[in-house]
Amino acid sequence: MSPLPELSEEEKKVFDLISKGDLSGLATHMTLHGIKPNILDDHGMTPLTHACFKGNKEISQFLIDQGADVNSDKHEHGYTALHFAALSGNSDLCQILLAADAKPYKTTSVGRTPSQMGGFVGNHQCVAVINNFIPKSDVDYFTVSHADGVAPTLPASFASAFHRLVMQVNIYPIRIALCTLPTLAEDYTKVKNTLVKMSAKQMRGDECNEVMSFKLHYLGFVVGEIMKCNLPESKTSPVELFTKRILKPNSGEKYLDSMIRECIREFPHKETTIFRQMVTSLAGTDDPPSAVSVVTTVINGARGFADEVKACATCWEETASKKCSKCKKVQYCDRECQRLHWFVHKKECERNGDETAAK
Ligand SMILES: [Zn+2]
Ligand SMILES: [Zn+2]
Repeated sequence: MSPLPELSEEEKKVFDLISKGDLSGLATHMTLHGIKPNILDDHGMTPLTHACFKGNKEISQFLIDQGADVNSDKHEHGYTALHFAALSGNSDLCQILLAADAKPYKTTSVGRTPSQMGGFVGNHQCVAVINNFIPKSDVDYFTVSHADGVAPTLPASFASAFHRLVMQVNIYPIRIALCTLPTLAEDYTKVKNTLVKMSAKQMRGDECNEVMSFKLHYLGFVVGEIMKCNLPESKTSPVELFTKRILKPNSGEKYLDSMIRECIREFPHKETTIFRQMVTSLAGTDDPPSAVSVVTTVINGARGFADEVKACATCWEETASKKCSKCKKVQYCDRECQRLHWFVHKKECERNGDETAAK
């Protein structure tokens, strides 16, 4: 029935050892019998796809080091290693595969990408890691001249900070603004121009990635908004001014919402699925979602911001662990986030303090 070559007993044992999670046994066995890393079982699965099915990142890393094909698509239903990793829920494993050049746009026989599979079973961290991954080489491309006369748009000294910016999972505009400090703030024009070019590049060729193209467009748009906050007569930095505009009670929310709606309108690729998806979500008449939650859902999978209670009150980073020492009712990433929020929190904090005292 199977068109695949029959495996020897030694080769079959490779899959047993992976199922048992026995890395040292596997390493010894493969060396001893000279087994190649890309053998296929009856279902067209390689040792690496098996390891990913198990969500085992150590064994997966070992197999990649042995030369395993991260993009093997011989599986009977077209699942790649990244599809299995996304299903396993191990986001570190997804990161390892992506760093080894796994292609996030490969689809199964029914047209599903790894990120869609992850989202389908609720593995949101995997979805976020996949959707936000960009190889460092994609950034480095913009720091050098090219044979076709394309001049560099990004100073080489910006490359690492820029790479961190484009891989940023928390895309709340205040977090993006803080992420530009200190390096990228030296020249926002170059940062914005590079983001625009990079966004366009994502839509070309067979590696076309509309989600990433939109994310880069969005980041470029936010950088443009920060640039508008560069008031020569003001002593306040553009990042601080931008942050306060968003945090300002009442007007801040409206500013944020109209800013992001404009950003969506200006996305040049109106033919994409995600463009239509965002427009439809925002067009809902009764109680439409906030624009920031719509773009977050598109970029990071169907989630929005998980738990607002535990997130930083300023930048919505989810790992905020420092509480306001006075009222202990809000949390921040660090002193800088707390300082930026104080003009809003001050009154609230006093009220919270009174409540605590009255008890
Ligand atoms: Zn924060
Ligand atoms: Zn407080």
